[in-house]
Amino acid sequence: MKSIYDFELSELTELMENNGFKKYNATQIFQWLYRQKVSSFDEMTNISVKLRDWLKENYTCEGLETLKLQVSRDGTRKYLFRLHDGSSIESVLMHYDYGDTICVTSQVGCNMGCTFCASGLLKKQRDLTSGEMTLQVLEVQKDVEKMGVRVSHIVVMGTGEPFDNYDNVLAFCRTVNHDLGLGIGARHITISTCGLVNGIRRFADEHVQYNLAISLHAPNNEIRSRIMPVNRRYPIEQLMDALKYYCEKNNRRLSFEYILLKGVNDTDECVSQLIELTKPFDVYVNLIPYNTVDEHGYVSTDYKTAMELYNKLMKNNVRCTLRQKHGEDIDAACGQLRSKYERGKI
Ligand code: SAH
Repeated sequence: MKSIYDFELSELTELMENNGFKKYNATQIFQWLYRQKVSSFDEMTNISVKLRDWLKENYTCEGLETLKLQVSRDGTRKYLFRLHDGSSIESVLMHYDYGDTICVTSQVGCNMGCTFCASGLLKKQRDLTSGEMTLQVLEVQKDVEKMGVRVSHIVVMGTGEPFDNYDNVLAFCRTVNHDLGLGIGARHITISTCGLVNGIRRFADEHVQYNLAISLHAPNNEIRSRIMPVNRRYPIEQLMDALKYYCEKNNRRLSFEYILLKGVNDTDECVSQLIELTKPFDVYVNLIPYNTVDEHGYVSTDYKTAMELYNKLMKNNVRCTLRQKHGEDIDAACGQLRSKYERGKI
């Protein structure tokens, strides 16, 4: 049975009209789900029993089961959720000065095969529905509400490649953004891609305000193809062309994610090449310390070298941050908690 969380408000409205109910019933249901955050149709007390019964017969209103919750010393909360088909997924809540940010998973497993990432240890089983992504935000919000916390920012940076599940990810963004529901500002929502060029071009044509982040991680094809197989399909030149197209169509700042892998992408030459790549763009570079994944054998660049890279970028007028690590004492690397769980290690 389809989940009620899979409907955008516009679809819910159509559903009501097509089945002899009132248009405004859609708004009522939407608000019960995302404002009151009820977990059953029976709690929707201002709609008729007839409509409630019809909803119960045709749709589910089930949330996600929390299998595990790890809380880090720095307050980072990592959730392992169970989906209705038994698959497990992770979501992470991180506290930043500008707000509490949830990192949402978009697929069960991932097929992109980045050689440093824990998510790819388990191949993609399926795409998440938009409702399964929305429910991650809802469940986390419900959990932290009692502490007075509001999830104000979303990054689609959990397991999976969002542009490999394009339609559902965009539907999810519209639902959580809607001001009759969770009302999370479009500019507070970030979609991160490893560089699926067709997805970037399609996204450019949508003219939406969500932020776009690119997992660049290497400034040339030789290194990038080695650590990110997607680069063999869409080499850097094609990626940069698509990004130029995006920037022409949308007057938005981009961000480049750049994880620091010792001896792989952290040389002086790499930084010079990175500076060149940023030149055509209004771009913000996030230098990210690598969270060690035992199975992969990479280590993070040491702090001193990372600071040198950061300073060189700054000196060359590239805006950047050296990101702090979050949740180091828990399984914070993408996909780490899930992959351990699925393989019976916890
Ligand atoms: N597929 C999308 C989103 C998921 S990955 C993408 O590639 O952007 C989210 C981010 O986490 C990416 O930048 C990814 O490269 C990074 N990442 C993966 N494993 C990591 C690790 N062990 N330490 C730090 N960052 C990691």
